[in-house]
Amino acid sequence: MPGAIYADHASTCPVSRKVAEVVAAVMAENWGNPSGLHGKSRRARELVEKSRARVAAALGAYPDEIFFTSGGTEADNWAIKGAAGAMALSGRRRIVTDSSEHPAVLASCAALEHSDFSVSYIGVDRHCVVNTEELFDSITENIGLVSVMYVNNETGSINPIREIAAAAHRSGSLMFTDAVQAIGSLPLSVSELGVDLLSVSGHKIFAPKGIGALYVRRGTPIIQLIDGGGQEHGMRSGTENTAFIAGFAQAVEDAVSGIGRTSGLMELRRRLETGLLEIPGTTLNGHPEDRAPGIVNISFRGVSGESLVSWLDMNGIYASAGAACSSGNGAPSHVLLACGLSPELASSAVRFSISFENTAEEIERIIETTARIVGNIRKLNSINL
Ligand SMILES: *Cc1c(COP(=O)(O)O)cnc(C)c1O
Repeated sequence: MPGAIYADHASTCPVSRKVAEVVAAVMAENWGNPSGLHGKSRRARELVEKSRARVAAALGAYPDEIFFTSGGTEADNWAIKGAAGAMALSGRRRIVTDSSEHPAVLASCAALEHSDFSVSYIGVDRHCVVNTEELFDSITENIGLVSVMYVNNETGSINPIREIAAAAHRSGSLMFTDAVQAIGSLPLSVSELGVDLLSVSGHKIFAPKGIGALYVRRGTPIIQLIDGGGQEHGMRSGTENTAFIAGFAQAVEDAVSGIGRTSGLMELRRRLETGLLEIPGTTLNGHPEDRAPGIVNISFRGVSGESLVSWLDMNGIYASAGAACSSGNGAPSHVLLACGLSPELASSAVRFSISFENTAEEIERIIETTARIVGNIRKLNSINL
């Protein structure tokens, strides 16, 4: 069998060679504790601050607005619990979010509901884009935080963050966006988006797992979640992960400068999408055009997404049924249900997420293999469309 094809980049990416080299070099040579006073520490501190400046420059932020975290989940938790907690001090205990968010956001909101916050979950349309009418109507007084993701991780659909941020600010609310799937896929400037808080994660952009960042606009009220030695200006204690921070800075720069290459990726995606949709009984989930360049989510009528993923795996193709964090539990995707799919159709979805590392030959093999397997599964189960 030819080499395996990795088409699951929205769940995680390999570490790029360049990033791995940066990480290894820091671990070997620049391993001091950035908080000390001697030379070994000073060099580590310089590295952390240089990395912070690089990340900030890539996002159009000031360095003091970038805080390193253990990843997207921590950044999401901190943005929501930290900002909501601070806003509650001025009597704003309401949060507006939407039903297609990542579990890190939904579960953080649910946790706040247990401590006297109220949360409105706005619906999404059939293209998995937030219903802005409903959203704008629900942004009234006493809202402390609006949290809407930039790019959905299951469908790739894009939300109009700039308009939503403007509406949030008109009512005196803070605006947070989970941009974990947006960075490297779409142009991303915090000032153009007009958000107060924005989360990114390393392992979705070819850095290691366990590193990410939260952008906090200067002056944004937020309380810290992690207390301790006072690192990150007292906002996120814990000895800095210097090696991963340096690798992350490299990955962020590479991701942002790689946006110029997304036209090639778009072409691959278009071919993948067209090829798969030629299989009978298929429908595309998410927005038909306005979508992250690497994500193709398709429902195969009469076929379980999980068994299709297993068959693809046995044929050397790696894809996901739903998001990695929720797949494997048998429940249909909350995102696809939110955009109006029946439980059957939601359970028959498979997400292919490709990157510029995939080749045109790989795309053809994915299409052929999927068509063959879907045909076989339907034959086996006597499914006539
Ligand atoms: C992967 C992902 C996260 C979580 O990031 P981790 O670094 O894995 O904790 C959050 N939001 C979105 C949209 C994601 O795709």
